[in-house]
Amino acid sequence: MVCAGGHPGGGRVDRWPCSLRTRRLQRSPGRRHGPQRGRHPACDARHGRHQPHPGGAAAERRRNAAGAHHRSKRADHLHGACASGDGAVRRVRQHPPDRRAVCLEQHRERPADHVGPAGMTAEVMSAAPPVAAPATASRLLAGPAWSADHERLAEHCHRLGLRPEGGEWLLRSLQDSGLGGRGGAWFPTWRKWALVAQRSQGRSVVVANASEGEPLSAKDRTLVELRPHLVLDGAVLAAETVGAREVVVYLSRGARAAHHAIARALGERRDAGVSEPPIRIVRTAHRYIAGESSAVVRRISGGPSKPQFAPPSPSQRGIGGEPTLVQNVETLAHVALIARRGSAWFRELGTVGSPGSTLMTLCGNVGRPGVYEVDLAAEVGGVLQLAGIRSAGAAALLGGYFGTWLAADTLPHLPLDAAALGEGHGASLGCGVLAVLPEEACGIIEAARIVSYLAAQTAGQCGPCVHGLKAIAATMTRVASAEAVPADIDRVRQWMRLVRGRGVCRHPDGAISQLGSALVVFADHLGAHLDGPGCVKRHNSGFPRPPRSARGWR
Ligand code: SF4
Repeated sequence: MVCAGGHPGGGRVDRWPCSLRTRRLQRSPGRRHGPQRGRHPACDARHGRHQPHPGGAAAERRRNAAGAHHRSKRADHLHGACASGDGAVRRVRQHPPDRRAVCLEQHRERPADHVGPAGMTAEVMSAAPPVAAPATASRLLAGPAWSADHERLAEHCHRLGLRPEGGEWLLRSLQDSGLGGRGGAWFPTWRKWALVAQRSQGRSVVVANASEGEPLSAKDRTLVELRPHLVLDGAVLAAETVGAREVVVYLSRGARAAHHAIARALGERRDAGVSEPPIRIVRTAHRYIAGESSAVVRRISGGPSKPQFAPPSPSQRGIGGEPTLVQNVETLAHVALIARRGSAWFRELGTVGSPGSTLMTLCGNVGRPGVYEVDLAAEVGGVLQLAGIRSAGAAALLGGYFGTWLAADTLPHLPLDAAALGEGHGASLGCGVLAVLPEEACGIIEAARIVSYLAAQTAGQCGPCVHGLKAIAATMTRVASAEAVPADIDRVRQWMRLVRGRGVCRHPDGAISQLGSALVVFADHLGAHLDGPGCVKRHNSGFPRPPRSARGWR
């Protein structure tokens, strides 16, 4: 529960006396679900008096000055130091709220071991014409502009209203909403919560998982950087609903800006006297599988971020031997909105089977790479319009490195709906990545690069994963270099069958799923690599390259 008086905000107390602010918040339509509790001790909203902020006016001025300094540095960074130049900044700022996207050019510090999606030059971005936005949605990314840094607690409360208290009512609401987990599996959220709630007895732990090991994805760290209080509200609602004793925010070491935002948000909540379970941050090495739920439990328990042999699953026995709910941060942010606005509101977007909106990272052969919020009722063609696709492209990788290659001619009218993707194309939205392969690029080369990266990401615990992926990657590297013969591809296909389902986690399955779809979609071109004239496509096409592997597992 948060202060209705807006005390933590930089200078907002003067403009929003507690009494006025409280009345406005009470009229907010977002407060119709669940009981309210708690109020900042310095507010006497009933009598409309504004008490001095703890620490006095001088302390408040110091805080405000610190905020102003921070904003000023931020603005300098955007206007002066940004490598992409003014054009890119203007584009981000000029997006109307319903078309807001977050540019992935190098505006902010990037982890050394994380290579984001390839960007465009400032000239191309600023020259891009206005684009129709048929797939857009503005829920999670609604609010202050990206350039305004993370949303402060006072602003967050003013915009969305107070957070209701979690409980059984929220489980029913989540069931009605049909919210699926946005970490990649799209598992029904209410089921996951119910499993933990059954065993919790007030001892369970909730983990807000923002580790985002997928190199092509930037949605989770972007969300945490921009809307940390929305994520924290969702995590606290989860803790109250399942009866957890603690919340852990789990971040990659590379996501320094996200770590900074969440640490500041926690400080704001502490200063405001928000009543909620203890929340701490745990960081991990940027590894592809560090976000797998059993790896999360192992890392938070003090070990390496490697998957553990199951059962029991974390929902049965996790951190400290207690049931643990590991939930992706985007899912938690959706929960924070559903708790305020209800399941019917959530279902106003999307389809019956895939309700709501989702964050997607669009990259590769697009004019405006970035993180976009899209309506799940949209088609891929509409989503690509948002990012300003420059040509049809050769194909696209949907769902990230564990995803599926799709031919260019299937993309324009391909629905994002889970059933349509799965039944029609054997694909899934996964973690929401859509990477478009330029026509001049070679899909076989890119698929070989990805499988080599994934082979290097193995946790080294399961033979089929360690040796099978290594052999597949080595052979595919020779295929990509046109040094292989047709029998090599037969061997790769055989190894893929042997590796499938043989790991403790889904790592080998995901790796060969991507490769298997590449061998189908680029079948016509495969001959050029085996016994044909050789591949004449470009090795450096602008399609995002896999990053270097991080060292260590902690
Ligand atoms: S399947 Fe691979 S990544 Fe997963 S636990 Fe086994 S060795 Fe590690």
